[in-house]
Amino acid sequence: MPIDATRAYDDSNIFARILRGEISAKRVYEDEFALAFHDIAPQAPVHILVIPKRAYVSWDDFSSRASDGEIAGFVRAVGHVAREHGLVEPGYRLLANVGGHGGQEVPHLHVHLFGGQPLGPMLSR
Ligand code: 5GP
Repeated sequence: MPIDATRAYDDSNIFARILRGEISAKRVYEDEFALAFHDIAPQAPVHILVIPKRAYVSWDDFSSRASDGEIAGFVRAVGHVAREHGLVEPGYRLLANVGGHGGQEVPHLHVHLFGGQPLGPMLSR
């Protein structure tokens, strides 16, 4: 079920639990601003999720409330993970689902990083 991206942050969401170490994840990168780990149900040969360390429901919440430093740190972390996985030369795709029409299911901002093969059209037809 897609979430309502305007609701308050829910501390019990699955990514909050991964951040607290209560649930395991295949972590690939961590710094002051971001944590990156493999998606549990990959939709491409490389499917990594990058999330901010602090509590933001969605891209909307993050882009309106996060400090410039957090935003810069998070964006740099996404780029770093893509480079570390050798995705720049072949190319890759970033995706952030927001709320109902975006099909967002986990109410903690996450950017999907897809790569490892040609990814086809941007939206399924
Ligand atoms: P959304 O639809 O919210 O943009 O994407 C949520 C993503 O989180 C999905 O691709 C789903 O497979 C992934 N996911 C859901 N639960 C878990 C989990 O417990 N661990 C990991 N690593 N990924 C998860």
